[in-house]
Amino acid sequence: MIDDIVCTFLGTCARDFEALEKADCRGRFDKDARRSSCLLIGDSLLVDCGTHVLDSLAIAGADISKITDIFVTHFHDDHFNPEHAERIAEGKTSPVRLWCRFDAEVPPLRGVEVMRMHEGVKYPVFPTLNAISVYANHDETSFPNHFLFEVNGKKLFYGTDGAWMTERACVCLRGADVDVFITDATCGDYAGDSRATGHNSIPMIRLLLPSLRANGIISDKTRVMLTHIAPSLHKPHDETVKLLRPEGLIVAYDGMRFTL
Ligand SMILES: [Zn+2]
Ligand SMILES: [Zn+2]
Repeated sequence: MIDDIVCTFLGTCARDFEALEKADCRGRFDKDARRSSCLLIGDSLLVDCGTHVLDSLAIAGADISKITDIFVTHFHDDHFNPEHAERIAEGKTSPVRLWCRFDAEVPPLRGVEVMRMHEGVKYPVFPTLNAISVYANHDETSFPNHFLFEVNGKKLFYGTDGAWMTERACVCLRGADVDVFITDATCGDYAGDSRATGHNSIPMIRLLLPSLRANGIISDKTRVMLTHIAPSLHKPHDETVKLLRPEGLIVAYDGMRFTL
């Protein structure tokens, strides 16, 4: 039997760190003072390495020496920090692989090998893990893309930052029937936010999910998780959970673990 893979949200915040700056969260996670969005899959694969990744790895008790691969959703500083990528690569016998969109402009990085991904192509990362990149509707100058990971036959979609899903991404993902669907939920449960052209709001997610079902991207088995949450645009975490749990939406928080 193949063991379940444990995934850890190391951060779940949009670029809205005021709550974190006001609170004293040194050495601990706080559901209402979120750190920069980042996910650790197993102990070797990191999705994004932005503003707070080193703190978050330390708080989660993760072993940096085990990280072999970093997937970069895009090059905004809350998702990618070059010094942090180099710090993760430090002292390793082989380079850390940095996976990104094929057209991304990546600065020279010590100890890092850049792996460029074409949209919709399946890349073998480990013998038991493949990854596919699909482009995202977000600031195009940041080379945004989302990832579908296939791990031991299970599927995990990680989609932040971005609003909705592009037509082409939808075609690439059609029929994927993912086990876990993680999506951008920057804006709260209201309409009219100007940022909702490059980020989702809760009403947008409500409209999007039935269309994803119709395309076979998600199904009844799928766990839908929300991340990249701006504390200033949402109710406190516990209230948001109460609001969205009846709709089957899981509100991620820093330090939250799930198995795949
Ligand atoms: Zn962001
Ligand atoms: Zn961004």
